[in-house]
Amino acid sequence: MQQTPPLNVAIVGGGPAGLLAAQHLAEAGYHVRVYEAQATVGRKFLVAGHGGFNLTNSEEESRFAARYATHAPAFSHYLRHFSPHDLRAWAAALGIETFVGTSGRVFPTAEYKPAQLLRAWLERLQQLGVELHTRHRWLGFTADKGLRILQETTGQELTVKPAATLLALGGASWAKTGSNGHWTNILEQQNIACAPFQPSNCGAEVAWSAYFREKVGRQPLKNIALSCGPHTVRGELMLTEYGLEGTPVYALTPQLRAALATGHPTYLHLNLKPDLAPAQLTTRLSQRRPGSSWASFLKETLRLGPPVPTLLREVGMLNLPSGAAEAAQLLTQLPIPVAGLRPLDEAISTAGGVAWAEVNGQLMLQKLPGIFVAGEMLDWEAPTGGYLLQGCFSTGAWAAQGIREWLSAVG
Ligand SMILES: Cc1cc2nc3c(=O)[nH]c(=O)nc-3n(C[C@H](O)[C@H](O)[C@H](O)COP(=O)(O)OP(=O)(O)OC[C@H]3O[C@@H](n4cnc5c(N)ncnc54)[C@H](O)[C@@H]3O)c2cc1C
Repeated sequence: MQQTPPLNVAIVGGGPAGLLAAQHLAEAGYHVRVYEAQATVGRKFLVAGHGGFNLTNSEEESRFAARYATHAPAFSHYLRHFSPHDLRAWAAALGIETFVGTSGRVFPTAEYKPAQLLRAWLERLQQLGVELHTRHRWLGFTADKGLRILQETTGQELTVKPAATLLALGGASWAKTGSNGHWTNILEQQNIACAPFQPSNCGAEVAWSAYFREKVGRQPLKNIALSCGPHTVRGELMLTEYGLEGTPVYALTPQLRAALATGHPTYLHLNLKPDLAPAQLTTRLSQRRPGSSWASFLKETLRLGPPVPTLLREVGMLNLPSGAAEAAQLLTQLPIPVAGLRPLDEAISTAGGVAWAEVNGQLMLQKLPGIFVAGEMLDWEAPTGGYLLQGCFSTGAWAAQGIREWLSAVG
């Protein structure tokens, strides 16, 4: 009896979302081809590995899903389909053990480098028969909805007509990794709405004085709390020549972006002693001898080192108020005027991309049946802490499932 050849599925974009979908589809028996514009796949995945490879988070399910803000209900669905536990099991199956750090973040154990994980993954894909076509750039659609692919090494344009396609083209930051967001032009020509890209998980710009820039340069402020309106995040902040970096400011990007959009002056409020109750802080401050130097008092009694007096001077507080309660109030709510967000290309991730109204429950584009989308190219954002990669993996896995269901329904 003649065997039916396996159906072809094309994955465009070789980041974590596309490669996980490729793996799941190949494991289900499909013939998968990945088209990637760059010379190698997984470039942003490797960049993510440079600063501590935070794959996912150990947070419990509902709090995890809440990290995707208004998209929490959809993500709770995707996370159930491919959970943080599944992600750790997937890494373990590739020979990469993971551990939960003190903050709940999940990392590969110290002996594994990001490139080892990617190498093991690519070997697995090869064993499954997934074809990787690098330096193959997707240019758009033919009139009959085939894919126009430019083979960059020869300059030749190919047309491919897979049974189904997953677009997993990433967001629009770190363009040198290939995630340049140029694909929005192609989708907009098909009347697919894309929300404009905005920086997410990025630094904030502050118009520091020349004196501050020279004196402080780049220095950390450890164990602080940062607030934007009612939203407060704890962590370590980095004072830089151009403003602020670090987890608390990254996590506040959505609120900061909204505040900046109002056109009103925008402030972040810094609590330099979040572990001390206001009454305790007031008591400590009242121990200062009148006339003694604030700088040495802050250093000796509150362990607030060198950048703090310069920071106070910068925000117009050459001297703290003499009243202990007022001084405590200032040290726990130091207003820092924010001029803007750092540029899109520097951001760890981007908000914006394919509008949710354009996809159905399986992440298929409603106007282009058979074409699915996954990963950061969809319009969502989440904080750092493993929520970005997990979101990309989970949507990739869910879109692969959607492709299987769609292909069995259309025969
Ligand atoms: C500095 C930094 C640190 C990070 N750290 C972490 C972290 O610790 N934890 C975490 O969870 N997340 C982290 N992230 C975020 C994470 O890396 C991304 O969210 C994730 O890689 C997005 O995956 P993706 O598959 O959606 O897209 P991408 O990884 O961006 O992949 C998209 C791919 O599509 C290809 N492509 C684009 N256009 C075309 C085209 N026309 N034709 C063919 N191919 C195309 C691109 O070349 C690219 O390879 C970090 C990101 C950065 C920049």
